[in-house]
Amino acid sequence: MRALTVIPGRKHSLALTEMPEPEPSPGDLIVDALAVGVCGTDKEIAEAEYGTAPPMADRLVIGHESLGRVREAPDGSGFAPGDLVVGVVRRPDPVPCGACAIGRFDECRNGGYVERGIKQLDGYASEVWTVEPEYAVKLDPGLERVGMLMEPTSVVAKAWDQIDKVGGRSWFEPKRVLVTGAGPIGLLAALIGVQRGLEVHVLDLVAEGPKPELVTALGAVYHHEGIEAVVKEGEPDIVIEATGATSLVADAVAATGSFGVVCLTGVSPEGRNVNVDVGALNREMVLENDAIVGSVNANLGHYATAAEVLREADPGWLGRMITRRVPLEHFDQAFDLGPEHVKAVIELERS
Ligand SMILES: [Zn+2]
Ligand SMILES: [Zn+2]
Repeated sequence: MRALTVIPGRKHSLALTEMPEPEPSPGDLIVDALAVGVCGTDKEIAEAEYGTAPPMADRLVIGHESLGRVREAPDGSGFAPGDLVVGVVRRPDPVPCGACAIGRFDECRNGGYVERGIKQLDGYASEVWTVEPEYAVKLDPGLERVGMLMEPTSVVAKAWDQIDKVGGRSWFEPKRVLVTGAGPIGLLAALIGVQRGLEVHVLDLVAEGPKPELVTALGAVYHHEGIEAVVKEGEPDIVIEATGATSLVADAVAATGSFGVVCLTGVSPEGRNVNVDVGALNREMVLENDAIVGSVNANLGHYATAAEVLREADPGWLGRMITRRVPLEHFDQAFDLGPEHVKAVIELERS
């Protein structure tokens, strides 16, 4: 079979590799891949900034935004041949820490977790993959073209779960949400906001391309003229920051109304200093009981929520989020999207 692999730490090593089909461990599902989504993490791995190969291996199969169809499922696994499935990315650390011990491996405390396609486990960008049934999630059959959006949706479902928990420390009935960034994470965060009946505003830099239409089609409001213009119309109760743009992070905190919750989901590069008036930030946070929470990854509960979110969403809208689909042999075209693009997908189905 063919797989998309990289030698972690070595630039320009991303390549199509011929390798034997994986041997299933007892109880595993065997899955014929349909597609993988490509995100910033994959780009960092391809650029040798991130990623670890499995023990004793040189190459790592990348791909963590999976979608496949079950070929073989053991009796009692809860799956059947033909089921549409997604594999979960993270596995708990072996100790395990207190968080992993209760299934909150998305909040692992010792860093000993492993991740399919990222850290010490081969990913899902191969024509065939195996997965433990307890780390596989069944998808609605109607999601055959868009189910690889499940993993980013799980990340966003977790962000919303964190916002609920932080807001839940007092009376919390948010009305306005500002999402910064109209990439896949921002758009899926906006989708959940709309599904919850909130007034959703999305801020991005681009004025053209599919992003404005995608936001408007949701029933949300698109902005591209900077955060001040958005806040002038009314302070958001919640900000979901999905760009990692250094200057936006402080602006996001300043933008909220009283008891504002800012959830940071984007990872900023280090070493980009901006001038921030920390005193003003402190004043704002204290006097308004504001909170900032960072959120990454997702546990099985968030995958279950994400499956619901996608089932409720318009499949046509989800399909328009995927602005580039390439066959496996043209994988490189999934790694060079311009800012007007939203999501690239590599198709893996064998004809
Ligand atoms: Zn990703
Ligand atoms: Zn742990």
